[in-house]
Amino acid sequence: MNNLPAPESTADPVWVASARGRMMETLRSKPYHIADPRVLAAMERTPRHDFVPGEARALAYDDRPLPIGHGQTISQPFMVAFMTEQLAPRPGDRVLEIGTGSGYQAAVLSPLVAAVYSVEIVAPLADSARKRLARLGCENVHLRLGDGHEGWPEAAPFDAIVVTCAPEAVPPALEAQLKEGGRLLIPVGAPEAVQELYRFEKRGGRLEKVSVMPVRFVPMVEGER
Ligand code: SAH
Repeated sequence: MNNLPAPESTADPVWVASARGRMMETLRSKPYHIADPRVLAAMERTPRHDFVPGEARALAYDDRPLPIGHGQTISQPFMVAFMTEQLAPRPGDRVLEIGTGSGYQAAVLSPLVAAVYSVEIVAPLADSARKRLARLGCENVHLRLGDGHEGWPEAAPFDAIVVTCAPEAVPPALEAQLKEGGRLLIPVGAPEAVQELYRFEKRGGRLEKVSVMPVRFVPMVEGER
């Protein structure tokens, strides 16, 4: 789809503008149809090339996941836009993300909500995401190094929770830290398999489940306890 020639430099604003334009076209058109104007605006203003390290940076705006080191990946642009749209972010929301990775999903959410809390278990990824998000001025994004199975109890409850790695079952702490009426978007399934993306809503203290689609995310690893 995005058969762009290799850029002279990924710092070249002309390359960035055209590559980003192609990505936006892909998100708006079939079969994706990302339609929420706020989500599209957030995708357009977030410099994805700043989140992809090394040689893969030249492919930053292609619609595919890319390596970010430590065996982890930044999700493909469609998946980030789709998850953001499914989360139905509102300006006053406090959102928890599990799996900061490059920080890209957190940066896309940043202008759409009041605050983003994001937990990452791999220290060097958390460090580089912290620097990157500070450089880009995402002041409402808060990062923590830790095991996402625990959520972020001090900042709970959350209006929405998005999990970008796949556990085998919904971690109880995440259910507990979701507000009544809140949304939880989470891929669930065995590692190395196709998982199912679920959208839960908390009603009457219980999670109501909607199956969204089959997906493939990196596994949510168990932390040291
Ligand atoms: N949202 C990221 C994509 C992340 S890939 C982005 O926009 O770039 C999933 C991330 O989840 C990886 O960085 C991985 O290290 C992290 N992860 C895996 N298990 C975890 C756990 N138990 N707690 C927190 N983060 C975890």
